[in-house]
Amino acid sequence: MTTFRVGGPARYFVEAEDEKDVIDAVIHARANNLRLFVLGGGSNLVVADEGWPGLVLKIGIRGIEDDGTAQPRALRPRSGQASVPHGPRHYVVGAGEEWDAFVARTVEDGCAGVEALSGIPGTVGGTPVQNVGAYGQEVSETIVAVRVLDLQNLKVRELSNAECGFSYRTSIFNTTERERYIVLHVTYALTPGGAPRMAYADLQKRFANHPGTPTLKETRDAVRQIRESKAMLIVPGDDDCRSAGSFFKNPIVRDEKAAEVAVMAREQGVEREPPRYPAGGGQAKLSAAWLVENAGFPKGFGSGRVGISKKHTLAIVNRGGATAAEIAAFSEEVRTGVRKAWGIELQREPVMVGFGSIE
Ligand SMILES: Cc1cc2nc3c(=O)[nH]c(=O)nc-3n(C[C@H](O)[C@H](O)[C@H](O)COP(=O)(O)OP(=O)(O)OC[C@H]3O[C@@H](n4cnc5c(N)ncnc54)[C@H](O)[C@@H]3O)c2cc1C
Repeated sequence: MTTFRVGGPARYFVEAEDEKDVIDAVIHARANNLRLFVLGGGSNLVVADEGWPGLVLKIGIRGIEDDGTAQPRALRPRSGQASVPHGPRHYVVGAGEEWDAFVARTVEDGCAGVEALSGIPGTVGGTPVQNVGAYGQEVSETIVAVRVLDLQNLKVRELSNAECGFSYRTSIFNTTERERYIVLHVTYALTPGGAPRMAYADLQKRFANHPGTPTLKETRDAVRQIRESKAMLIVPGDDDCRSAGSFFKNPIVRDEKAAEVAVMAREQGVEREPPRYPAGGGQAKLSAAWLVENAGFPKGFGSGRVGISKKHTLAIVNRGGATAAEIAAFSEEVRTGVRKAWGIELQREPVMVGFGSIE
């Protein structure tokens, strides 16, 4: 059930197809003293070899409602009010919908806003959790509301974008309010007839000689092709995509630290300057890929069942038959290497499940 293809069994497992199923499962877990784990598409997880001793609740709520066809329940005008013919198109999407199928649908509808996020595996419900982002776009730009079950009082409520506390690869769901909410539906506001996001250098290169602005469909296809070349698209038979995508987040450090890394790199004769992007408040975002690569872990590194992808420095891959313990140990080796080489503590991106103290 995980893209890494590791992890032991769940003691109990249930897939919830609607909100009532979710609530029933939570009540059942509580009544039986079972620890709950909420599973989406399993694309951002390392599950321990021992598995999960409690209940795994897979969110299988389906359905896409949009105000281009039928007005979503949450957005229906009150009686006497006319619906707004222009402006954004809203999609209310079940948390269990496959993310990339939803992206394909919005592109077909000619709505811009998530096209650069094509090809990312997992479910819609997983996207607000780490504020999924790629190629210069993040879901926080288009999410207007997240419908959740609050496990503190078993009430369903709607969180606004601001209440989700989105930031780079974080939200309240994976930081301050971790394990408090189950995402049931997500509402996105997309732009009919909008232009595709062209912020990513590889995409710009791809369309350098393109006459006019590429269509959303051309952009989506290009994003998927670029992702495939980096094993960032799940392609059956490609061993390099048995991963959880990028294993480390790009670290955000003080400007002084970023400058120090650049000096160290120059002194050591590292050919490529460390990429550095302003992150506001006297901080800079560094490239985790650069740090990993220049700490002695190039693409294809590792001789065992776990190693660095041949196509992407940030992806740790299960080359076949690996255990979760091997993945955890290998990721620590890389983290230690980066700490020693550059004095920077990398943060893991995937969620460690069932590992106890390192979760
Ligand atoms: C090849 C590959 C490429 C990737 N590329 C990217 C990328 O470009 N950008 C990016 O941001 N990510 C990327 N990822 C990571 C991953 O796809 C995303 O983080 C995805 O959104 C995870 O969703 P999921 O449904 O698979 O969640 P899971 O992996 O099942 O769960 C992840 C976390 O979210 C929680 N969760 C899941 N669903 C819910 C819910 N309904 N309610 C509450 N909590 C929930 C889980 O409890 C867990 O803590 C990539 C992964 C792979 C394998």
